[in-house]
Amino acid sequence: MCTATLAENAEGYQGCTSEACNFVHYENPTPVVGAIVEYEENSVILVQNVGWPGHWYGLVTGFLEKHEHPDEAVLREIEEEIGLKGELIEFRGHYDFKQMNQIIMIYHVKASGPIIKGDELADYKVIPIEKAKGWGAATGIALDKWLLEKRGY
Ligand SMILES: [Zn+2]
Repeated sequence: MCTATLAENAEGYQGCTSEACNFVHYENPTPVVGAIVEYEENSVILVQNVGWPGHWYGLVTGFLEKHEHPDEAVLREIEEEIGLKGELIEFRGHYDFKQMNQIIMIYHVKASGPIIKGDELADYKVIPIEKAKGWGAATGIALDKWLLEKRGY
């Protein structure tokens, strides 16, 4: 901001070296919402964002809009990405995703009806709950935890 150089400060953050300036580059995590979408009778919906490798599928996720509550953001993202009006069932907790410096707020949402793929998605999959499987990072861990409670394995 003031064009002076940054250096590590006493708290371990990069801070401005100018006496007159209080700038600290805190790199606060970005809040993100994510949805375990339970679809119709016995399925979940996983999505592939544009630009992801062809074998990657994940939860519906997205950033919050200005002043938007996460409860609203998660339902908006579901509608944008897969064209469904979801019903919020339960907040499932916060999961940190260190690689992206994000805190992901995970919800269980129920939805039904015809799926309409939005522009942000390359693809989506409807997977029977008995065959669904998480993966070893934030949203995948949240999915595995939910699957374990839902079906017992
Ligand atoms: Zn400065």
